[in-house]
Amino acid sequence: RAKGDGRGNYRFFEKGMDAAMQHRRTIESGLRLGLTRDEFSLVYQPLMDLDSSRVSCMEALLRWEHSELGVVSPVEFIPVAEEIGFIVPLGEWVLREACRAAAAWPSDIRIAVNLSPVQFKSHRLIEVVRRALDDAGLSADRLELEITESVMLTDHDQALDTLHTLRAMGIRISMDDFGTGYSSLSYLRAFPFDKIKIDRSFIEDVGSQDANLEIIKAVIALGKSLGMSTTAEGVETEAQLDAVRAHGCTEVQGFLFSRPLSETDAADLLSRLAPLPVAQTTRKAS
Ligand code: C2E
Ligand code: MG
Ligand code: MG
Ligand code: MG
Repeated sequence: RAKGDGRGNYRFFEKGMDAAMQHRRTIESGLRLGLTRDEFSLVYQPLMDLDSSRVSCMEALLRWEHSELGVVSPVEFIPVAEEIGFIVPLGEWVLREACRAAAAWPSDIRIAVNLSPVQFKSHRLIEVVRRALDDAGLSADRLELEITESVMLTDHDQALDTLHTLRAMGIRISMDDFGTGYSSLSYLRAFPFDKIKIDRSFIEDVGSQDANLEIIKAVIALGKSLGMSTTAEGVETEAQLDAVRAHGCTEVQGFLFSRPLSETDAADLLSRLAPLPVAQTTRKAS
């Protein structure tokens, strides 16, 4: 009987595997075609500076609408793109597209672009970044690159070199999803980050009964002592906002302020928010 069950399970497993592998192959081939077929786009989510209550930055987030599968989440296709190496050309497209869009925004608004560890290790990275900035006519100090803790795991020295080169160019570096990876506090000291983005999972239960504010407080304090700003990711409620603000968080991002926006809606939002009252008065008077 045990044997029978085993075979049954095996066959079921095999069928499941088939479907999964089929789906995976569709994604793999779809990725390559998608770039030529214009199926990728970027959306932009504002980051709010809590001191000035203004938008400081927009994070570019990749979207894919596959011809048959419909909308595929980056959480699903980015790992596949990383495995087959396709994240390098795809990531280059993202970088160029994001810089092009940002060049049309008010000059005090930065653009944040997510970098995969695979891209980060590519020997062409510096050249690709430099060219994206040049071609868009975007100043390097308007670009933030978001990387995750995993980039520090393998070639420590090379990662440090790359970070120093990027920062010397004037680019800011953010540590994304902080607290979810293999974070070691010593990394924060060793690596020159400008910003720590506290992962959404820590913000989620803030304002609820069993909120774990100690970690958030500690990260904000650590950031402050290392001269890094801190962003709370995934702020959805007023209670979460109040809590992270009370503990000295410098920036927030989340559905409470805005969902990711199309390029048109992003430009619209920025043109509504950006003009200073002074500038408006001057324009009217002249
Ligand atoms: P991430 O870089 O941490 O981006 C933030 C994610 O949180 C985005 O999901 C955003 O839509 C979502 N989010 C923002 N505010 C809220 C909120 O208040 N509540 C909730 N529930 N979610 C919120 P998205 O766009 O699905 O992206 C998921 C992840 O995929 C990103 O996480 C990033 O790791 C990766 N990703 C997206 N675009 C790119 C890209 O161009 N390149 C690379 N390498 N990775 C990307
Ligand atoms: Mg990010
Ligand atoms: Mg993040
Ligand atoms: Mg996150």
